[in-house]
Amino acid sequence: MTSLTFLGTGGGRFATIYQIRATGGIYINDGARVHLDPGPTALMNMRRLALDPAKTDAVLISHCHPDHYADAEMIIEGMTKGGFKHSGVLVGSVSALDGGNGFSPAVSAYHQSITSSVVRAEAGGRFEVKGMKIDVTPTSHSDPTGVGFKFHTTNGIISYVGDTELHRSIMTAHEGCRVLILNLTRPLGSRVPKHLCTEDAAEMARAIRPEMVLLTHLGMKLVHEGVRRQAEHIEKVSGSRTLAAEDLMTVQVGRTIRTSRSKGRDIIEGRGLADLDR
Ligand SMILES: [Zn+2]
Ligand SMILES: [Zn+2]
Repeated sequence: MTSLTFLGTGGGRFATIYQIRATGGIYINDGARVHLDPGPTALMNMRRLALDPAKTDAVLISHCHPDHYADAEMIIEGMTKGGFKHSGVLVGSVSALDGGNGFSPAVSAYHQSITSSVVRAEAGGRFEVKGMKIDVTPTSHSDPTGVGFKFHTTNGIISYVGDTELHRSIMTAHEGCRVLILNLTRPLGSRVPKHLCTEDAAEMARAIRPEMVLLTHLGMKLVHEGVRRQAEHIEKVSGSRTLAAEDLMTVQVGRTIRTSRSKGRDIIEGRGLADLDR
């Protein structure tokens, strides 16, 4: 079984500043434990779910915006047992590791030095974490070196598009995934450059046709206008089961895909959007 735990489902400036939703990223456990985009509240939500930062195998930072990295250095301190043991892999976009284009590095030279290895993630590349192959995919975002990831898990491909706008090359890069995680910032009728709105997310899902679409990185306006409407639109247009993730939700990917809203209770299996979101 492969699990995806949402330590936050908010994203973008104002949802993050006001913590409309938490912004702690996604914790993937497929034997390898990977913490993807640990923004503010990552540590606090790990504590709430009794996830031990000392057991993290890799920290991945898709790009150099703080909703994706603010807790990264502390997670790295956990991963390296307080910095006393060189361990774990740090993977980051060029911007997150080196800065550039107006960015400073998201992770200090000290925190980079205490890990066992550092991987610069550039689109088209591939690396491994404890045997799990991970492809680096392109994005089109305001951080020009931002990336997405395609995880080759023991239960099929799980894709994370990262922060991006719609582009043909990005749809092509995520073909073949079972689970498509979309960073959906804007609701219906309010497209902005360099981010996905609901119409674009629906087009992407329709082209890729995954078994399940999970929506996260939900922006302030979108949350206020209603996440369910967006998920319903995407499901209707794409034909793929679509679920707006909730904070602390876990998705178990095995032969079937199961979700639970909070650890240990309210298990929901194999049902559609209508059952999950009402
Ligand atoms: Zn973001
Ligand atoms: Zn961003």
